[in-house]
Amino acid sequence: MASNPVNAEIAVLGVGVAGIAAALALKQTGLDVCLIGEAVGNGPKVGEYLPASVLRPLRALGFSGLDAILGEQDVLPSTAKMSAWGSETWAYQDSLRDPEGGGWHILRHRFEQQLMHHAQSRGVEIHRAKLLELKDNGAEYRVRAVGDGGEITVQSPRLIDATGRKAWLVRRLAGAPKQTNIQMAVIAWIKDPRPTVARVTSVKSVKNGWWYTAPLPEQQRVVAFHGLADSVSQLYKSPDRFLDQARGDGLKDHLPDRAEFIAPLQSCDASVRLSPKIAGKRWLAIGDAALSFDPLSSQGLHFAFYSALKACDAICEASRSETRRLQAMEVYCRQVSDVFKSNQRTRFMFYNQEHRFRDEPYWREQCNRC
Ligand SMILES: Cc1cc2nc3c(=O)[nH]c(=O)nc-3n(C[C@H](O)[C@H](O)[C@H](O)COP(=O)(O)OP(=O)(O)OC[C@H]3O[C@@H](n4cnc5c(N)ncnc54)[C@H](O)[C@@H]3O)c2cc1C
Repeated sequence: MASNPVNAEIAVLGVGVAGIAAALALKQTGLDVCLIGEAVGNGPKVGEYLPASVLRPLRALGFSGLDAILGEQDVLPSTAKMSAWGSETWAYQDSLRDPEGGGWHILRHRFEQQLMHHAQSRGVEIHRAKLLELKDNGAEYRVRAVGDGGEITVQSPRLIDATGRKAWLVRRLAGAPKQTNIQMAVIAWIKDPRPTVARVTSVKSVKNGWWYTAPLPEQQRVVAFHGLADSVSQLYKSPDRFLDQARGDGLKDHLPDRAEFIAPLQSCDASVRLSPKIAGKRWLAIGDAALSFDPLSSQGLHFAFYSALKACDAICEASRSETRRLQAMEVYCRQVSDVFKSNQRTRFMFYNQEHRFRDEPYWREQCNRC
């Protein structure tokens, strides 16, 4: 049964980090904001490394620090990065040399749950529901969704797309995001009960892609392989093969001898995607819905916060006059475009440091399309 429409001055679609951050920022400005989307569950979610740079947006959102969101037991400060990239020799970079600090390994779903809890306690109206249909009468959007409580319709003159790589709204209003490269990832979460596990992120390039592993709170570890669809799907089909290959590819010392899986393997798209349009007259896109990164950069969460805050600035500025609206949207699109260009330059540099496998299909794909 359809419930009465929920009216909001602005509706944010997608209850991930970008959506929750935007809702918090808009609420701070006094706007009546509604957040709608499928929220994270209790299982693991990719994106467990938080760079230290997220402290700035977190403070802008009124949090004194990460400890205002997560308890001590939910955070593992990262002490170093290790990489064997372009060579079999591991290079070690201590976080002490990073002026912003080493960042943190977190349980991502818990981070999102806590952020959502804070948003709710600050008065953001949240509807957990799957988005189904969009209608636009020229002045107001109507978004139909279905959740545990049945069907819900949200009516709002302005929308923010924060639906991640699915880009639910962008696809309907502007078309599919443009993909600059082909890359998939397969991810495993395992128990790592070793008493002295270094809090180190390890990255290793191999012939058909690259591996990533990092410790997580609660004696867990994430292990991910990034490659083309055929190699990813072979590993996805067999968890044992996944771990054997990780060990055989040089991660043996980084993994526990016996591994117990915490959740089924997950696979997902890991390409760079840029939306054909970042903003329209009454909508804009943030986070992965606007621009999704190669996981090598570990910049996705920072950008989710950054774009949410910049979008909030643009929306506030836009409400002053039509001229200001046009300027504000142009500024926002340029900010996203600048991030994309700078990120692509860095990405190009990293992938081209791997000379050994230059003629392999995976590396040709990443370098040629850089
Ligand atoms: C393999 C991999 C590893 C990564 N590792 C890191 C990392 O370590 N550090 C880092 O900073 N970044 C990492 N990233 C990137 C990071 O995960 C993303 O940039 C980040 O999740 C973007 O946040 P978001 O809120 O924009 O989107 P999302 O986190 O994708 O949230 C979107 C939300 O919208 C909801 N939604 C979508 N469609 C619908 C619909 N139809 N109806 C209802 N709800 C919907 C989803 O359920 C979700 O809750 C990684 C990415 C990949 C692919």
